[in-house]
Amino acid sequence: MNLEGQTALITGSGRGIGKTIALKLAESGADIVLADMTPEVTKVRTEVETLGRKCLNFKADVTDIGTIEAMVKTIIEELGSIHILVNNAGITQDNLFMRMKPEQWSKVIDVNLNGVFNVSKAVIRPMVKQRSGKIINISSVVGFSGNPGQVNYSSTKSALVGFTKSLAREVGARGITVNAVAPGFIDTAMTQALNESQQEVILQQIPLGRMGDPTDIANAVAFLASEEASYITGTILHVNGGMY
Ligand code: NDP
Repeated sequence: MNLEGQTALITGSGRGIGKTIALKLAESGADIVLADMTPEVTKVRTEVETLGRKCLNFKADVTDIGTIEAMVKTIIEELGSIHILVNNAGITQDNLFMRMKPEQWSKVIDVNLNGVFNVSKAVIRPMVKQRSGKIINISSVVGFSGNPGQVNYSSTKSALVGFTKSLAREVGARGITVNAVAPGFIDTAMTQALNESQQEVILQQIPLGRMGDPTDIANAVAFLASEEASYITGTILHVNGGMY
C-alpha cells in the first residue's frame, strides 16, 4: 500500500490498535495526526517521526465537539488536508444488563458512537470540498454476535454499521469512501482486562486458534485507506480469525 502524500487522522492512537494503525499508515507513507487523551501519544509521535513522516499530536477527547472542530481546523492550516480518518477511539464499561447503570450506558454511547459522529462531522466538509476521502470506523465482532455484559458496547459497535453504510451512500458521489473494520478479540489492554478463564472460552471460539494482533487490524485499515480499495464503500471487513 502506498499512502505517500496522504494525511491520516487516527483517534485513540496513543496505544493499542490505534497506535499500531498510526505506525502502519506511517510506514506506508502517510503523514499522521494522533488524537488521544493519554500522554503516551507523544512517544508514538517520536516513533512516527523516526519513520520520516510529519506528525502532529493532539490531546483530544472525541466527545468534546468544540475541541475536535478546533483540532481539525489546525490540522488543515498546518498540513493542508485530511485524506484518511480512522475512528478508532473506544471504551468498554462492562456489566450485566440488570446491573448496568445509566451512566455506564451513556458514557460508552458518548465515546464510541457520539465520538464517531463528532470527528466525522468535523472532517466531512473539507473532504467534500477536496472531493476525496476515506473514513474507516472500528466496529467489533460483538456488534454482530452480541456478548453478555456488553449490551452498551455491542450496541455502539452495531450502530457503527448503520452509520458506515448510510454515510457511504451519502458521500460516495463526492469521492469519499466509508468502511468499517470489525475486529475479533485482539491482544490489547482492552482484552488483557479479561480473566484467564474468559480468555480461554474466547480462544475456543476462534478457528485460527489465537487472539488477533493489533497488526492484523492495522493491515486491514491500510488496505481500506489505499488506492487499491477505491471501489469499496459501505463495507464491513471482518478480521476475527474466523470466529464470526
Ligand atoms: P485501548 O483501550 O487499548 O485503547 C483505546 C485508546 O482510545 C486509548 O488510547 C484511549 O485513551 C483512547 N480513548 C478512550 N476514550 C477516548 C476519548 N474519549 N477520546 C479520545 N481517545 C480516547 O483499546 P483497543 O486498542 O483495544 O481498541 C481500539 C478500538 O478497537 C476500540 O474502538 C475498540 O472498541 C475496538 N475493538 C477492540 C477489540 C479488542 O479486542 N481489543 C475488539 C474489537 C474492537 P486513554 O488511554 O486515555 O484511555
